[in-house]
This record gives sequence, structure tokens and C-alpha cells, in this order.
Amino acid sequence: MSRYGMVIDIKKCIGCHACTMACKAEQNVPKDIFWSSVMEKEVGLFPKVTRVFLPVLCNHCANPWCVDVCPTGATYQREDGIVMIDYDQCIGCRACVEACPYRARTSVKDNRTLYGDGKTVFEKPVARLIEKGVASKCNFCFHRIDEGRVPACVEVCPTECRTFGDLENKESMVFELVNSGRAFKLFPEKGTDPSVYYMR
Ligand code: SF4
Ligand code: SF4
Repeated sequence: MSRYGMVIDIKKCIGCHACTMACKAEQNVPKDIFWSSVMEKEVGLFPKVTRVFLPVLCNHCANPWCVDVCPTGATYQREDGIVMIDYDQCIGCRACVEACPYRARTSVKDNRTLYGDGKTVFEKPVARLIEKGVASKCNFCFHRIDEGRVPACVEVCPTECRTFGDLENKESMVFELVNSGRAFKLFPEKGTDPSVYYMR
């Protein structure tokens, strides 16, 4: 069985936010919500200062706390490890938002539309997310994966700092990178076992 994952080489990230915008466009992510973003920090002392970037998204944990706390079964895990949300079952209780140690989930309740005369074509696909205040987060672009493609953030990255693939496949590039000795996970002490790895 496959277990999909991503390896992000933070040395290659230039903080351009192409991934942030590709995610918004691909998934029609509502305003005020970001499923994929890039954290940044200045390091060093003047005049030797630089900026470091950390792209973040849902880690599609093998032991996801969000699944454990969901009272309705709305949050669930596919057999290939992708952690999903069934918006029809979500009651917007925010238990998962609070439980996620990576703050990868958001829920925003907002009935306003951009214009007074109804929803635009961009708002229609996500209207039920914001009207009901359901939880939302990165879904690894599962619709693309099911077609044999890679997530939009991987495809658009100009420095190719993201590698996506099957962590269980010993022939895959992600398997090679994860076992290169340079890969690490965020908050390994939490025991969530993320499927997103980073490299320095
Ligand atoms: Fe769940 Fe958070 Fe892990 Fe994503 S990063 S699977 S939302 S616990
Ligand atoms: Fe489950 Fe939705 Fe509640 Fe999250 S907000 S725990 S997905 S019902």
C-alpha cells in the first residue's frame, strides 16, 4: 500500500509564495484561509543577516490527532495516508483545529459575499465551507494524485524544493531523500509521524 508524502528542501526555498497562491487557485480556498503558506524569519546579526523560509501545510500524519478527536468521523484517513475532511459530516466544532499540533487547520464562518448581488464563480465552490464554518486544510491535492499528477504546490515551485511521492516505494525519490540522513520531521516528539519531511 502507498503512503504519500512530501520532502521540502528548505535551503532551496526563496519565499516567493508561488506555492501559497497555486494552492489558493487550485482549491478555491476561501479568503482568510491558507492551506499552504510559507513562514519566514530573519537570522543573524547585522551586517551578516539572512532570511530563512519554512513552507508549511498539513503533514498528513500517520497518527493524526485530528482524526482521533473528530466526534462525527468527518475527518478520516484514506488508505494511502491522506487525511481528508468530509464537509457534509463536519459540524464545525473545531475540536480538530485545537488538536492539531501544527496549526494546519482553519475554520472561518462568514456568510458575506464579495459583492452584494450573490456569489461569484470563485465563491460558489467553497460556499459551504464558509457558510457552515467547517474545518478545512490541505488535502495533498488528492484529485491530482488520483490522476497520477503531483500537488499544485509541487508543480509550481520555481526552485523545485518540493518532492512528492510514495514513501513506501523504495524506488521513489522521496524514499531516497527521507533516508538520506538530511531529512527531519516537525515536532517528532508529538508522535504524530508526519508524512511531510524537511531537509536543511
Ligand atoms: Fe491532522 Fe494536523 Fe497532522 Fe494535518 S498536521 S494530519 S491536521 S494532526
Ligand atoms: Fe470533525 Fe468538523 Fe469537528 Fe473538525 S470541526 S472535529 S472535522 S466535526
